[in-house]
Amino acid sequence: MARANAAYYAARDPFVDFTTAPEISQAFGEILGLWAAITWELLGRPAPVLLVEAGPGRGTLMADALRAIRHAAPAFCAALSVHLIETSARLRALQQEAVPNAVWHDSLETVPDEPLLLLANEFLDALPIRQFVRRGDSWTERYVIDSGFVEMDSRSPCVRTPSPQPWSSSLPKPARGGGDVFEICEPAVDFAAVLGRRLAARPGAALFLDYGPSDSTMGDSLQAIRDAGPADPLRDAGFADLTAHVDFGAFARGATAAGAVAHGPIPQGVFLSRIGLFQRTDRLARRQPPARSMALIEAARRLAEPDRMGRLFKALALCHPGCPTPPGFES
Ligand code: SAH
Repeated sequence: MARANAAYYAARDPFVDFTTAPEISQAFGEILGLWAAITWELLGRPAPVLLVEAGPGRGTLMADALRAIRHAAPAFCAALSVHLIETSARLRALQQEAVPNAVWHDSLETVPDEPLLLLANEFLDALPIRQFVRRGDSWTERYVIDSGFVEMDSRSPCVRTPSPQPWSSSLPKPARGGGDVFEICEPAVDFAAVLGRRLAARPGAALFLDYGPSDSTMGDSLQAIRDAGPADPLRDAGFADLTAHVDFGAFARGATAAGAVAHGPIPQGVFLSRIGLFQRTDRLARRQPPARSMALIEAARRLAEPDRMGRLFKALALCHPGCPTPPGFES
């Protein structure tokens, strides 16, 4: 999955195959920018401060966020510098057009160790998962060989464990029966641990929007999207976007174990409505001709309605322990 997605993001325009919230409505990036500005105030206005985005795609979210920040939060604007975490050279070139003054990084590791506000939309679902299948009272791991799935006992001499992490401790206790699939996403948990350590040590907060259940659950969620529709994940590796549901429970635990505080996850529709998606959309729509105005309102509804993107997508905030509850997460 890691190699297929690296090839996919390096060579293709993913937005031919799927669309994302910032591409659906400019209001999404704008209100996330204001979320960062208000959270910066709650953190005591640390300066200088990094505004970081992980997996910025075309750079649309950050461009919209910066426009709103410039307009509504000049002090935050003056204190911040923009850092983008992106592995695809092709997407970096697009991001450079949208956000000319950013600094790029391959991973969180090289982002300077300073107070930060981090945003990430549909970043975690692109990170590679490992799948374990319950067979009797033990687990086998699912591998891909010659475009087909094979299951191997993890003690098999053929198995090279790509990470030193003791993954076996992350698996639930095997129960009777067979066939259940459990997924772990080591890069996501590693990202949470690095971020959690930073947030424990310095003022900062991070906001993740992505799709998946609120807590760890069984099930095979690997999917491929190509030309705006489902595709076979094992066909034409590198030509389709491979994603898996985000395990928000495991991700949040990775960060809290390192000393950060988690708020949520809560449904995206609830979060976006609380932080003003519809108010912002109304203001934008008022200045537009009727067709454009209707399109903006329809876009906001698509992001927030429970049977569309509002419930499967979740919002999770990770914060410095001294940070009051950030906007949208008040209970
Ligand atoms: N956030 C954007 C794009 C989502 S697509 C939006 O909402 O439109 C996933 C993004 O994550 C792409 O920019 C992709 O190149 C990037 N990405 C995928 N794997 C990555 C990794 N391991 N490290 C950094 N970026 C990655």
